[in-house]
Amino acid sequence: MGNPVVEVEGLRYAYRDREALAGVTFAIPRREIFAVLGPNGSGKTTLFKILSTLVPPMSGSVCLFGHDLSREAHRVRHHLGVVFQHPSLDRHLTVLENLVHHGHLHGLWGSALRRRALATLEWLGVGERARDRVGTLSGGLQRRAELAKVLVHRPELLVLDEPSTGLDPGARRDFRAILHRLRDEEQVTILLTTHLIEEAEQCDRVGVLHEGQLVAVGDPETLKASVRGDVVVIHAAHPGVLQTKLRERFGCEAVLVDGALRVEHPSGPDFVRAVAEAFPDEVKSAAFGKPTLDDIFVRMTGRRLWNG
Ligand code: ADP
Repeated sequence: MGNPVVEVEGLRYAYRDREALAGVTFAIPRREIFAVLGPNGSGKTTLFKILSTLVPPMSGSVCLFGHDLSREAHRVRHHLGVVFQHPSLDRHLTVLENLVHHGHLHGLWGSALRRRALATLEWLGVGERARDRVGTLSGGLQRRAELAKVLVHRPELLVLDEPSTGLDPGARRDFRAILHRLRDEEQVTILLTTHLIEEAEQCDRVGVLHEGQLVAVGDPETLKASVRGDVVVIHAAHPGVLQTKLRERFGCEAVLVDGALRVEHPSGPDFVRAVAEAFPDEVKSAAFGKPTLDDIFVRMTGRRLWNG
């Protein structure tokens, strides 16, 4: 398998007295798509900034391609492609001019650079728009052009901050497919940050970030399989009272999250029926579903990832 492309060990970072990363450890092998999933304020952007060499780690170590960023950040930049949340393309230049400019920053030049830029745009399905000003492209195409720009110098590691932000579902799907092609056809290793469960579930592995700590790391299916059976969510007039009654009657520990009771149960339908029959006056609604990464987050933190 070779050495990991990304190795993070005991990473800490604080803004004055506010600790944003509180000892983060993980590694990413070559050709993996790794999602850092966490709610707002969990430390995703801070981690992104460190991995993209914008800010140095405060303590702990971060190695990319075996080079420690504290001492050798300059040695990794050429192998790194960084996609920011906010577009970094110049809207007044054409798509191709943006790519050529980026190529110059990486020491590429002349007709070879133009050929490479055009080939990258073709590969991403924006070849026809190469000579259009960026400002005339749709949001989804601008995102692809942005990606094309950072791919011009053929990075081996791509780091993206919340890449789906501002994209409609169709454009999100397209973008995701492109990331998978990059992994499969170009052997690129990819780390992205996201607060979207659906996006994280499409990645090879997920690191769940909560208050600056990784509370779970693994592939989505294995993480979800750690929840036995189904997740039952019950709304009640008096959830605290029902919580006690569930314990007494069924011997189960329901967790109260955002005003609803959540129970992991081997058979959601059976449990929903039993609870509705046992406490018809208390239960306002009860539903079950297969576990998601949100349930993993609840289990690890006692909170939901988002309150949508
Ligand atoms: P996320 O990207 O997951 O929203 P951030 O990395 O932006 O998380 O923030 C992590 C924590 O650090 C939060 O508590 C946030 O308020 C704090 N933080 C982020 N940037 C700054 C800053 N420039 N100054 C002070 N605190 C900050």
